[in-house]
Amino acid sequence: PGQGAEAAGKPGGLRGVRHIIAVSSCKGGVGKSTTAVNLAFTLAQMGARVGIFDADVYGPSLPTMISPESRAITPVDFEGVKAVSFGFAGQGSAIMRGAMVSGLIQQLLTTTEWGDLDYLVIDFPPGTGDIQLTLCQTCALSAAVIVTTPQRLAFIDVAKGIRMFARLAVPCVAVVENMSYFEVDGVRHRPFGQGAGEKIVEEFGLPHIFRFPIDPGLSSAGDEGLPLVVVDPTCPTSQTYAELGAAV
Ligand code: ADP
Repeated sequence: PGQGAEAAGKPGGLRGVRHIIAVSSCKGGVGKSTTAVNLAFTLAQMGARVGIFDADVYGPSLPTMISPESRAITPVDFEGVKAVSFGFAGQGSAIMRGAMVSGLIQQLLTTTEWGDLDYLVIDFPPGTGDIQLTLCQTCALSAAVIVTTPQRLAFIDVAKGIRMFARLAVPCVAVVENMSYFEVDGVRHRPFGQGAGEKIVEEFGLPHIFRFPIDPGLSSAGDEGLPLVVVDPTCPTSQTYAELGAAV
């Protein structure tokens, strides 16, 4: 993990947090939460003090993907990572207007006593609207990771995400091209085609692109409440997460 700006000017409980990393996508179901959770635990395995904030109040995934015993809205420590999710309070997912969601996220994020952290990974709600803008303005983000799938169609959405962060002066340090391929007998198959990744690198000159395979281990680990990087830290997918961790 790189060194960077100190936590100057951060509100409330975020005072002791050095780097806040957004994990964002423009569509649902592309693997944003899977990436956020595995990135957080990878950074912890690299020796950093890490928190994860599930800002996806419309579809909180953290309560499924990790399974701490306490579900109060104070950070719960799970395998060395401090975690907060709206879903831990037993609320399920939110049915409310955007302005209320923005207020709720802001409150949850800034009143949580995160303590001293090197990284706080924020699992952003999908999209580039009001809620995302409020989140960006609430905390000084150090960097953003954008998650997408390989279809050329996805490019338009990714471009939107990159432009949103650029406008707010948040550097996009990496694109995750998730569900890129699967391998059978050493041959790579690409059921969703390809092209989005290359096009992003060409047009925006982003420093890193990480391609993750369709890996049944990722989804079964997520379903069982323990991230893949914790279950099997040496498998090829976990090694790619280690590269992503080094890039942020
Ligand atoms: P999002 O946060 O973008 O809505 P999720 O991270 O919740 O997406 O992922 C959606 C589903 O796809 C989950 O069941 C997850 O386990 C699965 N999944 C995500 N990435 C992969 C992958 N590379 N290989 C296999 N399954 C994956």
